Amino acid sequence: MGAIETEKLIGPRATTSLVSRGSPLASAAQQREVLLRFSQGQFVEKAGRLAPTGIDIFQINVGKLCNMTCRHCHVDAGPDRTAEMMSRETVDLCLAALDRTSAKVVDITGGAPELNPHFRYLVDECVARGKQVMDRCNLTVLLTGPCRDLPGWFAERGVEVVCSLPHYRKRNTDLQRGDGTFEKSIEALNRLNAAGYGKGDARLRLTLVHNPAGAFLAGDQKSMEKEWKEGLKANHGVTFDSLIALNNMPISRFLEWLESSGNLQSYMELLVNAYNPGTVQGLMCRNTLSVGWDGRIYDCDFNQMLELDARYSDGRPAHIRDFDPQQLASRAIVTGRHCFGCTAGTGSSCGGAIA
Ligand code: SF4
Ligand code: SF4
Repeated sequence: MGAIETEKLIGPRATTSLVSRGSPLASAAQQREVLLRFSQGQFVEKAGRLAPTGIDIFQINVGKLCNMTCRHCHVDAGPDRTAEMMSRETVDLCLAALDRTSAKVVDITGGAPELNPHFRYLVDECVARGKQVMDRCNLTVLLTGPCRDLPGWFAERGVEVVCSLPHYRKRNTDLQRGDGTFEKSIEALNRLNAAGYGKGDARLRLTLVHNPAGAFLAGDQKSMEKEWKEGLKANHGVTFDSLIALNNMPISRFLEWLESSGNLQSYMELLVNAYNPGTVQGLMCRNTLSVGWDGRIYDCDFNQMLELDARYSDGRPAHIRDFDPQQLASRAIVTGRHCFGCTAGTGSSCGGAIA
């Protein structure tokens, strides 16, 4: 690894949440303010106004509670984030809204979504509706007391497990997620494999998610997948079905790190200069709705963290309690400079590279 790349790497340990430290960047308004400082690259001038194509994916963020505190986290999740937890009432409102869409996929995320007390209820209700359910899992949570049975529980229901693992090498993963994370992640992957995941069965899909450990773009997804499959199999006996590579978004704790390490200006320039018009058609905000823990509705998870609400055509912020799919179909997607993170290089979405 060269000197320049090393300078752009994230520091050696996990951190604490911005909220727990009373950081100004805990405020979404402050994050938006920081992003506005950059004069170069107006997203709308490059990509035009984005319009939704439908609701294929119904994403539910059930809260910010997490057993980890990774440095790159765009959610500012952590063990202290107990207040932001989707209630059973809001879960039921989400299910009622889901019934009014043609979404085939329900993408459940957090924090560590498995720590929400209504998580299993939500999964069971979505499975009963015939939806393809995806759990965005940090792996280590599967080793915590109440979640240890989840690999088998997921397998019984055919839940797709989408697991974040920054790298197949220990050093790179522990840099971003904290010492000891890699070993725990491997143990969790072994348990998923033992439950039948990651062996080519379309009902038991195991997807790994990579994001870079610093101020550079994700590498080539296809070649990384091959390298990871070989590396994890040879060194740990782990198998998985596919790998998706995401760019880090200049939001929340990754934004803080960019600013404090002096990488913010160059990273924003990198994102703008790497703008790829071929990604615009496949941006996830076009076919996804993202519901926050408190029922507010957004175009995507990133807008959710910046508190950029989706708006009905009459200007009201959309909320799950007055869910109106017709009005949402004609909304203008809210964009900003952070959107360059989705259009840089081969693009980046919850499903990985776009172009
Ligand atoms: S990146 Fe994922 S695992 Fe890490 S703190 Fe954030 S939500 Fe938790
Ligand atoms: S950040 Fe959200 S709104 Fe912006 S381009 Fe990405 S998915 Fe779309």
